[in-house]
Order: sequence, then structure tokens, then C-alpha cells
Amino acid sequence: MISDETPSSMEEPNSDTRGGASNVAVRPPVTGAYVIENGRIHSVNPATGERIGDVPYADEEAVRAAMASARAAQPAWAARPLEERARIMRAFRRTMMRRADWLTQLIAREQGRPPVEALTQELLPIADLITYYSKRASKFLADEKLPMHLLMYKRSFVHWAPYGVVAVISPWNYPFVLPTSEVVLALLAGNAVVLKPSEYTPLIGAAIAELFQQAGLPDGVLQVVQGDGRTGGALVSAAPDKISFIGGGPTARRILAAAAQTLTPVTLELGGKDPMIVLHDADIERAAHAAVWGGFCNAGQVCASVERVYVDERIAQPFTKRVAELARNLRVGHASSARDPVDVGPMISERQLQIVQRHVDDAVHAGAQILAGGNRHDGKLFFEPTVLVNVRDDMDVMREETFGPVLPIATFNSEEEAIRRANASPFGLSAYVFSRNQRHAERVARQLEAGSVLINDVVMSYGAPETPWGGVKQSGIGRVHGGPQGIREYCQPRHVMAERFRPMRRELWWYPYHGANYSRFLRAMRWLWQR
Ligand code: NAD
Repeated sequence: MISDETPSSMEEPNSDTRGGASNVAVRPPVTGAYVIENGRIHSVNPATGERIGDVPYADEEAVRAAMASARAAQPAWAARPLEERARIMRAFRRTMMRRADWLTQLIAREQGRPPVEALTQELLPIADLITYYSKRASKFLADEKLPMHLLMYKRSFVHWAPYGVVAVISPWNYPFVLPTSEVVLALLAGNAVVLKPSEYTPLIGAAIAELFQQAGLPDGVLQVVQGDGRTGGALVSAAPDKISFIGGGPTARRILAAAAQTLTPVTLELGGKDPMIVLHDADIERAAHAAVWGGFCNAGQVCASVERVYVDERIAQPFTKRVAELARNLRVGHASSARDPVDVGPMISERQLQIVQRHVDDAVHAGAQILAGGNRHDGKLFFEPTVLVNVRDDMDVMREETFGPVLPIATFNSEEEAIRRANASPFGLSAYVFSRNQRHAERVARQLEAGSVLINDVVMSYGAPETPWGGVKQSGIGRVHGGPQGIREYCQPRHVMAERFRPMRRELWWYPYHGANYSRFLRAMRWLWQR
């Protein structure tokens, strides 16, 4: 259940329970973290520190029970005609649109982002994804004939069978669009799903279940288990048939190690350190606006954020000046309604904010210069949109995922240098190239080691269901979306082969073996392949 009550007394939540790079010296006034208490997980508004609702915490036993219910419900769901499953997804879309104001407000309160961003980055892509896939799923999942080139007397096809029960484990930074997208595709393909939303955004997780229930999804087919890493770990150990994980690299490694025990297939969508290259022939005004939006939307807490900028030395001065101007004009704060004039909301937690502060402080200590921002804002979890220049590639702010509103800008002298430096990262999620000359931009784009390269644009391609989404190197394994590929990720390709004509008594390579067989095969093979 989602509680809309706000407690009158503001209780101090626990500090972030995850380990890691936090170097908090003094306990700050607002931590933004969730609280686990008396078998419930309490959600906290990161902008105000208020508890805004709670849901039951799922322990190992609850996770096993959810898995059992999903498994029991799955065969009947898979047996429904695909068109009926698509109809329920469209009903979900209508319910979501009817309750759009409620949902964007909930996202604004629980995750902190301005409602307009919640609408355009969380609801819009889901409405479009459902429209796209519910129309095309039957085509994407139709049997695929495999024309035979050597064994022409055989007939072969692949049919797409659902895995069974899919575990979806998702992060807090896009708390609605990421889990919902995977749930929709897995369900459409005929799977049941056990969803584990982030512990930072449990109310949005509960909202997803509520919307599906209102859309008429049969009982049991979607289970939501709420909790932290322990709940996620229990889910991975509860023997799902496929795991779809979106989150950080350290968690991904733990999941991969656990999944290795049962050889469970895993899709991993992980972090990035996405570079933006601004070539000498770029439209400076567009590039500056793109850098600012790409670096600061969702307070920079985007896997595909512009995390480092490389600009041609020849245009660096006007570009940097414009970026700094635009960054200084951004309005930081908490938007409690869609009318509030806010561009950048709070960070999700103290831990996240401390990483940002450390990256900025270390960079400045090593010689970087701040052109805008640089500090915590208002003593709370807000961080000023920050622009840094004079940065070097060996600084943490240019190497590690910052995941906050920081835009470090470096300059380059040659295109080769820009490409080499952009690629010198263990990550490879997205990359961005700016040039007025399409050919020029494409030539650079093809050389970048990234799952997606956008030309004269940033961040948005996750929202286009036709395009594949995923990373190379340590940014992930597998792809989501991308037309047929997106839904087939949730299916096993199963191959069937048969005779086109009345079968021979035996195949030529069956028993008994004798010398004549060998000579016949060798003659035929030489005739075919030795010429
Ligand atoms: P996280 O890895 O800390 O947590 C993600 C999810 O995993 C949460 O639900 C968490 O409870 C769960 N979890 C934690 N330990 C687990 C375990 N041992 N077993 C199973 N589940 C476990 O990540 P986060 O802080 O929530 O998200 C931020 C990260 O996600 C960033 O690195 C960001 O770049 C990445 N991300 C990637 C994409 C993408 O599409 N590539 C999208 C959004 C975010």
C-alpha cells in the first residue's frame, strides 16, 4: 500500500546502509536514505528528509513465496494469446496516463526530480514503449524460418519461448521507467516477473504493482519484493530463470557470481563515464545547451549523463563561457508541484553527495578551476550545478562515475587525441559527438567505444524503443530495447528442425561407417570447397 501520510515529527533516518566511498565526517542534517524498521521499509523524501510512506520488507522467506506464486501463475499467463497480453499492457498505459499527475508527484517526492522531468523521462518513454511493442510483439515473436543452404531437404525454424520467471532488479535513479520497461517486455513475452525495486524508491515500486493490478493483470503474474541488497541477494538465490539487473558494477559482479552457480542468464545494464566530444565545427550554442542538460538533468544521476567534455581548443573559450553561464542560471531546489520553477532537484542520499563533493574537491586541489557551482546548496542534499575547467584525465572526476551535477571540461588539439582520450575508460555506455558536419561526426562516432553514440544530442536514446540500449566494456552485458532484440531478451530461442520431404531410411552420416562413405564424403567436400 502507498501511504500519502507525512509524519508530523521529522525523524532522523539512518545514514546510508551501503558501504563504499563515503567519507562523511559530520552527520549532516538530511541524509535522504530509507529506513528499515519493524519489518517495514520507510521511504524518505530526499529534499526534506520526511518519511513519506512505508511498505513491508521482504525477507528470504517472503522472496521464496513470491517466486513460488509467480511460478504457479506463469503457465496460464503464457498460454493467453499474445494479443490479450498486449491488451493488458495498453490498459496499463491508459491507467498510467489517467494517474499521471499522481505518479509524477510521487516521483518528485520520493526521488526528488522536478515533475516535468518525471513526466518526460519516466512516463513518456513507457507510454511509447508500450505503443511500439504491443503493436509489433506478434511480429517480433513470430516463428523465424531459417533457410537451409547445404541441407536443403531440411526445414528449420526458431520459436520464441518465455524463460518462465524473470527477476528484475532495478536502481533508484529512474525508479519508474527502468523497472517498468523490463516488466512490460518480460510480461509481453509470456514470463511472470518478480520485481525488486530500489530500497530508495519503494513507493514507486509499489505504484508499478498497483497500476498493473488496475490494468487487469492476473493475480500472481507480477510480484514485487521490497528491500535492500539482502532482498536482492535472496531473489537471485531463489532460482529465477533469467535476471535483468540495472545498477552499479560492484552489485553486478556479486549477482554474476551468484548466477554462475545455476548458470542463470543475466542482462546487466551498468554505469558509465560518458564523454562528449565537441569538434571545431560544432554549433556552439546547441552543444553548450546539450552539455548543460546532459550533465545536470536528474541532478546528474543518470547512467548516460555527460560525465566529461572534450572540446576542441579552437572553440573552447566561447563554449566554456556559455556552458558556465547556462549552469549558473539553473534553479536548484525542491519542486513540490509542476508549477514550481526548479531545474535541478536533490541528490538521492548523503553518500551520493559525498562522492560528488570528493570529486570536486580533489580536482580543485589538483589544479582544476570552478567556473560555476562547486558546493552543497542550502545545507541539504542539493548540490550546485558545477562546471570545472583545467581538468586532467588522471583526476577522479574524469575517471570514476561521479553520478552528480558536475561537468568537467577538458580541451584537445586533434581529433585523434579526443577519440583516444574518450576511449581511455573502463566504461562504454554512451558517447556524444557535436559537429555541424554529419560525415565528420559519423567518422568520429564509429571510432568510439560505446553502446550508443549520439550525434548532436545527449542522453535520450534509452527512450527510443527501436534502438538498442546497453554498454560495452564494464558498462554491461546484453541489450534492452532495439526492436525485436528487446523482447527476445526475455525469450529462449528454441529451434525445431524437420524433413521437407519423406525422410530417407537413414542419413548419410549415420552408422554403419565404412571406407566407401569416407571416399564419397571427401569427393563431395572437395568438389564443393576445394575449388
Ligand atoms: P546498486 O547496484 O547499488 O543497486 C541496484 C539494485 O541492486 C538495488 O535494487 C539494490 O537493492 C540491488 N542490490 C544491491 N545488492 C544486491 C545483491 N547483492 N544482490 C542483488 N541485488 C542487489 O545501484 P544504484 O545505486 O541503485 O544505481 C546506480 C547505478 O546504476 C549507477 O552506477 C548507474 O550508472 C547505474 N544505472 C545504469 C543504467 C543503465 O541502463 N545502464 C540505468 C540506471 C542506472
